Amino acid sequence: MAKGKINVHVENIFPLIKRFLYSDHEIFLRELISNATDATLKLKHLASIGEYKGDVDSARLEVKIDKEGKKLHIIDQGIGMSRDEVKKYINDIAFSGAEEFLEKFKDEKNDAGIIGHFGLGFYSAFMVASQVEILTKSYREDEEAAHWICDGSPEYTLKKADKKDRGTEIILHIDDDSTEFLEEQRINELLMKYNKFMPIPIKFGTEEVADPDHKPKTIKDKDGKETTEPQKMITVDRIINNTDPAWTKQPTDLKDEDYKAFYRELYPMQFEEPLFHIHLNVDYPFNLTGILYFPKLTTNMDVQKDRIQLYQNQVFVTDNVEGIVPDFLQMLRGVIDSPDIPLNVSRSYLQADGAVKKISSYITKKVADKLSSLFKKDREEFEKKWNDIKIVIEYGMLSEPKFFEKAEKFALYPTVNDEYFTFEELKDKIKAAQTDKDGNLVVLYANDKDEQHSFIEEAESKGYQVLLLDSPIVSHLIQKLETEGDKVKFARVDADSMDKLIQKDEDQISKLSEEEQEKLKGYIESVVPKEKYTVQMEAMDSSSNPFIITQPEFMRRMKEMQQTGGGGMMGMSNFPEMYNLVVNTNSDLMQKILKAKTKRGEYINQALDLARLSQNLLQGKEMTNFIKRSYELMNN
Ligand code: ADP
Repeated sequence: MAKGKINVHVENIFPLIKRFLYSDHEIFLRELISNATDATLKLKHLASIGEYKGDVDSARLEVKIDKEGKKLHIIDQGIGMSRDEVKKYINDIAFSGAEEFLEKFKDEKNDAGIIGHFGLGFYSAFMVASQVEILTKSYREDEEAAHWICDGSPEYTLKKADKKDRGTEIILHIDDDSTEFLEEQRINELLMKYNKFMPIPIKFGTEEVADPDHKPKTIKDKDGKETTEPQKMITVDRIINNTDPAWTKQPTDLKDEDYKAFYRELYPMQFEEPLFHIHLNVDYPFNLTGILYFPKLTTNMDVQKDRIQLYQNQVFVTDNVEGIVPDFLQMLRGVIDSPDIPLNVSRSYLQADGAVKKISSYITKKVADKLSSLFKKDREEFEKKWNDIKIVIEYGMLSEPKFFEKAEKFALYPTVNDEYFTFEELKDKIKAAQTDKDGNLVVLYANDKDEQHSFIEEAESKGYQVLLLDSPIVSHLIQKLETEGDKVKFARVDADSMDKLIQKDEDQISKLSEEEQEKLKGYIESVVPKEKYTVQMEAMDSSSNPFIITQPEFMRRMKEMQQTGGGGMMGMSNFPEMYNLVVNTNSDLMQKILKAKTKRGEYINQALDLARLSQNLLQGKEMTNFIKRSYELMNN
């Protein structure tokens, strides 16, 4: 038996390991299972090149809890280690790795980022164990088995062991403050979180399954009643992982059903099917595989739940892919797996990393290409999905110039009548009718068909197209389209009177003289609240409504942009609630108001309230007054 002292530079490395990344103690299991997997894959590699002749196909890992003994075992059938290798790899290399890791990150403990996810390796076992044993036997027949014991101080013992079979068993004597790791449920939870898709089968416990050799007989009694004998059950090892998940396969080997099945495997609590998927697969200039899914986006979706998962060689790392996947795609689901993403670094470093930047732009491009091909292949289907995917696309167009370029060809602009145009198609369609006298193409839109009903009707009566743009960030997108486009203006249908929104050369003739208009304006202004409404006289069709309440496009849009963030409006705090009251001087009601001997005030208020009502602005006391006044007017 040999006693040794680990070559310690930082004497107190073990207590340090214990305290380190306190909340992340659980990663020890992933680290040990990763080592066991690596050891098995290495052996498989040796077998594949003829360096090892034994059986490797049945190799698997096992995790075992010994609750009484307060021990947790991680067992593999991999390459194992000789005594010398234990000295070298565990005492020197593993130790220096852990030491280096701690040195590097001891000041960055509070970085909420990705550090701590990888890098501590074998020594992370001491975060939860007061003593660790390694029982190992090399795949090389002539090597003796070794037994290493270390209680967390720099001293260790290394002796011969009588282990017969190849591989390594790590035994953790779980510390009193870490007994949670002796609970089957807790270990199961960790295995499901980190190892669900690892490439070597992992056994954990047993389960009862139907005996495949037993086909229950059905017997008919004399009355013709059928009874089936109970199915015989057998106890088998429980393998917790799917060793070849969909993303590791070739897209050509997978059917749509397989992708859907994998989605359910990833998110067992999701009952809604994904809209479509994107299979990622590159090996140059970086390695990346994965599958992204477009979920149906709903307004009250919990974006913190069921996020994209990041793996490295089938080991789960995190479901926070900030910095790796562009912001606008973080609403997607699925997995990405890349060994090329540096993990034991802080987020700010990650975002500046060249390889990571390339990965992020590759993902953007693949998503854009997929959308483009869906659009080209089956436009009708694409239109049907538009409402569920538009937020992602609009957000992408706003935040990624490269994506904007591509999306311009497939981004859709639906009308209130459910017709879908690309921006180019739309411009062609409305050019003739909706170009104003200064040559601006005016795109009309509504964001609520019911609320803006009378305005939409007015626009359509003039032969105009009205878009239905109702996503929360649409004001930002409009702003961008106006800046990029040549002589294109967007206006919501209720931003002004139709004649003002799309000004043509021909002027409507007013039935009222200048003098009558002045008088009328005076009457109206003396009744309507000045702080809210600016009275604007206008000669319109006599059949148009007498009063119309509008909200200037600019004001409203700035306000919306401010509410949804960004847009350079940070400094400006509150926009006042201001409207225009457009008075149709050609309406017959104006004659009545001008000539009224009594009730002039009532007429004006009544018309104002009707205008408010059509804009959903009539509430509370004003509504009560309106109802009272309406009855009174009927009674007189
Ligand atoms: P890393 O895995 O990053 O190299 P570790 O500290 O986890 O660092 O392990 C150090 C070394 O110990 C490994 O590189 C490997 O050579 C050896 N080792 C650890 N676990 C096993 C195992 N289960 N079987 C064989 N060798 C192992």
